[in-house]
Amino acid sequence: MRLDAFMARAAAAYYAGRDPFGRAGDFTTAPEISQAFGECLGLWAAVAWQQMGRPAPLLLVELGPGRGTLMADALRAIAEVMPAFRAALQLHLVETSPALRAAQARLLPDAQWHADIATLPAGPAIVLANEFFDALPIRQFIRRGDAWLERFVQDGAWHELPPEAAPPLPGHAPEGAVLEHCDAALAIVQTLAARGATLLALDYGPAEDGFGDSLQALSAHGRAEPLAAPGSVDITAHVRFAALAATARAAGAAAHGPLPMGLFLQRLGLMSRAAILARSNPRQAGLILSGAERLVTPEGMGRLFKALCLCHPRRDPPPGFEPA
Ligand code: SAH
Repeated sequence: MRLDAFMARAAAAYYAGRDPFGRAGDFTTAPEISQAFGECLGLWAAVAWQQMGRPAPLLLVELGPGRGTLMADALRAIAEVMPAFRAALQLHLVETSPALRAAQARLLPDAQWHADIATLPAGPAIVLANEFFDALPIRQFIRRGDAWLERFVQDGAWHELPPEAAPPLPGHAPEGAVLEHCDAALAIVQTLAARGATLLALDYGPAEDGFGDSLQALSAHGRAEPLAAPGSVDITAHVRFAALAATARAAGAAAHGPLPMGLFLQRLGLMSRAAILARSNPRQAGLILSGAERLVTPEGMGRLFKALCLCHPRRDPPPGFEPA
């Protein structure tokens, strides 16, 4: 099986029946670490809406919303700070997992669900995606001699075969170099850019694309073997932000970033928000502040994670992406 087909099946089986988040699960994400994360992104979306000329209705879309925590925190902040935006927005969630759709419905009863972006209605849209693109299936090409082979999976082992319908690959590369390619991510970005949507993608990956095998699996907060137990571990890959930005620009959008996520969140005032939360919950102040610090510090998630924004080319850069 080609690696992307293997990953797609493994991811579908993995997410279909479980809630993988939090201490008892396999991994923890930013919205589960600090409520200030979703709140700041909600206010980010409110300013982006104003920059778009306050269209109504406005589609507020989240890709892969997990438990729905980010969006619930975002909507609470939006309702408080900009009720006109809360009134104008229609909530659309793109989610394939039945178990996670049920969790989202408990927090976000007025949402509409989609299996992919193809069924989103037309019209102005702001799209949020946190740790979504890393879960999409990738292909891996490996340099052997003067040629590229593609990595396939069979019975838990790797096989290398000549690729069919490969994307453009560089003419030179060191022996054994691995090049990753995510058709699904590029197709989503291309579609959103072409419809003039504003997209904010937060995920892990390098600022500049290069060679390397970034496929990883997590189980119970530890590393697992990606091929060993398909469907029972979380398989992801680094997001190639430069490729996403290039695809967006080719489709007519402006691309801002990728910025280190820590810098982006600090510009949005995440630490000030956390300080306010800590002052009003003195018993949990330590936990609140250390959670926020984990999101912004380079040793935490602040450097590995990046923020990339696509928007209409004639619009001002949204908050956090202004030229320094
Ligand atoms: N954004 C959430 C969850 C991240 S996990 C958070 O930050 O906590 C990845 C999410 O994407 C899950 O909700 C998973 O079910 C969903 N997902 C994975 N592959 C998908 C696909 N191809 N289409 C739609 N949703 C997908």
